[in-house]
Amino acid sequence: MRSISIFGATGSIGESTFDLLMRAGGPSAFNTIALTGARNVTRLAEMARALHADLAVTAHEEYLAELRDALAGSGIEAAAGTGAIADAADRPADWVMSAIVGAAGLVPGMRALRHGRTLALANKESLVTAGPLLMATARTHGATILPVDSEHSAVFQALTGEDVAAVERVIITASGGPFRDWPLDRLQAVTVAEAKAHPNWSMGLRISIDSASMFNKALELIETREYFGFLPDQIEVVVHPQSIVHALVGFCDGGMMAHLGPADMRHAIGFALHWPARGDVPVERLDLARIGQLCFEAPDAQRFPALRLAREVMQTGGLAGAAFNAAKEIALDHFIAGHLPFLAMAEVVETTLARLSRQNGLGNAPSSLEDVLYMDDMARRTATEAVADWQQERHVAWT
Ligand code: NDP
Repeated sequence: MRSISIFGATGSIGESTFDLLMRAGGPSAFNTIALTGARNVTRLAEMARALHADLAVTAHEEYLAELRDALAGSGIEAAAGTGAIADAADRPADWVMSAIVGAAGLVPGMRALRHGRTLALANKESLVTAGPLLMATARTHGATILPVDSEHSAVFQALTGEDVAAVERVIITASGGPFRDWPLDRLQAVTVAEAKAHPNWSMGLRISIDSASMFNKALELIETREYFGFLPDQIEVVVHPQSIVHALVGFCDGGMMAHLGPADMRHAIGFALHWPARGDVPVERLDLARIGQLCFEAPDAQRFPALRLAREVMQTGGLAGAAFNAAKEIALDHFIAGHLPFLAMAEVVETTLARLSRQNGLGNAPSSLEDVLYMDDMARRTATEAVADWQQERHVAWT
């Protein structure tokens, strides 16, 4: 029987993974080693019971007692803390879903790779912050990384059986989010409720807001570079409001392979679960005649500066991705808390990168995970200062 673990089980990707596993037979088809979550321990315990997991881990020590209560009588082991989550990745699972949100997903994913596991990678932040280390770790330990982000799963599928040397370009699509048509001045006053209302996809809060600001697409540009190794100039973004075409690969003979699918993450998760075979996945089948039109347009660099910043990060290379992601996470925290307006998130990230580049080291290739975590920490502190400076300089104008 196949053994599996889900990191970030209680999130949007975790729930979709759980749904697929339960439909495919649940505990009679899979040996569940570990499920992890953070605050939603009630749901974590429900999932652990349903899948007969060996272990359930919450990221926060203060939730351990609640988790233990919820698991009482089940025989399922409970643990807490970031160390316990990382340790859970040492347990023997053949297939590991990496679906923690943010840079917190990096260490458990890396630990799973060191044991030669198959890592279904939804946590794009791992590739953005430590792409070369992650890919090298997989190679060294004979592990497999399967992309779960819909665009990257699409590129992966479009490349199957193709000669990578014949690829001219890769195009990933962006829905354009809820503000695709909004003029710049209207974007100044965007609320969290507006930003999280994605028109096509149902996702976690943070990635939904990142989609609205295009920071999600910015992360995905870097993710494409790190996972597939294409040059920055070969990777393009096109806005496609229907979210039906997820990516296209263009070859040297002028042909393009496009991947189409419903806006349902269970397709990409199911692909990674069944790979290298194709299994039945219970998603809607596309009715192209009903959809009628597929539209494409260029992204607006002025309203969505995150894409320009991602290109600068790719040019800088080294630890710039770690700094970019950390600064974005801090800016997003402040937007969610109501301390920073929507458009200022990009300003904070840009300021952070500028301040760090002056201190050297941003473009240095990381030689270890510690280098990445050091840059992550430094960028978080620099971004927090940049937010404070922004608030001091502009607070009156904003409120
Ligand atoms: P959610 O916010 O819905 O879920 C995040 C998960 O991570 C939850 O299980 C949460 O626990 C847990 N978590 C939160 N903080 C921590 C922490 N500090 N340490 C350990 N665990 C933590 O996120 P999504 O499912 O939307 O996204 C997960 C990842 O997948 C992200 O990297 C995202 O970019 C990527 N992704 C998501 C897509 C989507 O459709 N949602 C599409 C493509 C990629 P709890 O809920 O219990 O607090």
